[in-house]
Amino acid sequence: MSGLRHVAPEAAVPSLDGQGCHAGADQMAAAARAAGNTELLNRYAKDYPQGPHDKPQSMCPAFGSLRVGLRMRRVATVLSGSACCVYGLTFVSHFYGARRSVGYVPFNSESLVTGKLFEDIRDAVHELADPARYDAVVVTNLCVPTASGVPLRLLPKEINGVRIVGIDVPGFGVPTHAEAKDVLAGAMLDYARAEVAAGPVAAPTTGRSDRPAVALLGEMFPADPMMIGAMLAPMGLAAGPVVPCRAWRELYAALDCKVVAAIHPFYTAAVRSFEAAGRSVVGSAPVGYEGTMDWLSSVGQAYDVTAEKIAAAQNAFGASIRAALAANPIRGRITLSGYEGSELLVARLLIESGAEVPYVGTACARSAWSEADRAWLAARGVAVKFRASLEDDCAAMAGFAPDLAIGTTPVVQKAKELGIPALYFTNLISARPLMGPAGAGSLAQVITAAMGNKSRMAGMKAFFEGVGKDDTSGIWEGAPNLRPDFRAAHQKKLDKLARAAKAEEMI
Ligand code: SF4
Repeated sequence: MSGLRHVAPEAAVPSLDGQGCHAGADQMAAAARAAGNTELLNRYAKDYPQGPHDKPQSMCPAFGSLRVGLRMRRVATVLSGSACCVYGLTFVSHFYGARRSVGYVPFNSESLVTGKLFEDIRDAVHELADPARYDAVVVTNLCVPTASGVPLRLLPKEINGVRIVGIDVPGFGVPTHAEAKDVLAGAMLDYARAEVAAGPVAAPTTGRSDRPAVALLGEMFPADPMMIGAMLAPMGLAAGPVVPCRAWRELYAALDCKVVAAIHPFYTAAVRSFEAAGRSVVGSAPVGYEGTMDWLSSVGQAYDVTAEKIAAAQNAFGASIRAALAANPIRGRITLSGYEGSELLVARLLIESGAEVPYVGTACARSAWSEADRAWLAARGVAVKFRASLEDDCAAMAGFAPDLAIGTTPVVQKAKELGIPALYFTNLISARPLMGPAGAGSLAQVITAAMGNKSRMAGMKAFFEGVGKDDTSGIWEGAPNLRPDFRAAHQKKLDKLARAAKAEEMI
């Protein structure tokens, strides 16, 4: 029990239990600070600066780190959080084909307040730590345990040779599920770096490349790392592991790469770990003609490759990228938004394919690694919005009246209401190659087909015109039974409750 933090009941635990997203982010953050997590929240505020939306506007951020853990071989994942959060997270994981159990340590107000939850987590970790089955166990504190200061840092670092990695991924500190991937990737890299410093580590099962390699930061379409490898070959370089990794040993191989390509620009903690290992980091990605030429040059220079070899790589692929772009033109106006971190790259590709892209919104924050893409887009008159809210994305779509809106689920839904053809960024755009010659022609078909649906969308809109919307939607025998007086009375009640809550805060 020594060292175990007991959370005082006045640390808002009873009022937080069972709340989460529904509690105010400020209230949760204040509780977390009171419970000893000030340093953690300050680090997250620096790593993941918040923008107009300070709460998740899409799925729970912890899904990002959960998915990273679930995709790794010989890694067990355990969640500690409210049952409703864990239900949602496991549901989405299995929807996306996790094919693996997600561990859960349940709690109630009492076990949270007395510190028994920490003991339960420790017992669960001991039970799971079987070296025959696992290289690592990842334990994640969701909102309520983070707000209550459940001290995962006090878990043993290793049990029977199985590494134990504890992370806090609260919705009030980590704004997007993309950045939650970084929380786990960074924690794993830090762990692996300490192992490397302590002595020899295992080589990757796939063996080591005989050429200097470039580690790739960001989840990509499976063919993209191969394409990148082919483009690096004329410079005498190879594609290294993709971080987040699929196996623990790949972390060592990634740390071994002298140069890291931040293909997705939001991996702040991972970059910090690479830089602590003395690695240099290159931003942007090899998308389209100009993007690929610039990226090959940056990577070559970071590896001190001769200008001749850089030119050889550029010449080997420049012509085929140009040919693929010319053979697969995209005509029309497109607004684009998403939360994957690759939005700016996709916008570059669309513009080089001939599309007009007036707006790009990304839920991720501005960073040094997306700066070249931002500048390239801004120079072409594109409004780039970092930490874009759903409202920003919808306003841009309504304002620019595009031929196609690419966005998240609620943006696509709104587009359909307006009769605008739309595509889901995550399912339909992220699931395609984007890099080099393979990426240059990959988007045209799906985008042109979607744009071609404009008249069908208009037909559907006309067909459903007049069926009402919101609380008057559907088929009514008479006029919809609207009661503005009831609504006004209810609003008064809500206002009164809000005033009472405000007054309580000030006491
Ligand atoms: S863990 Fe996720 S679902 Fe649960 S309260 Fe936090 S943000 Fe919401």
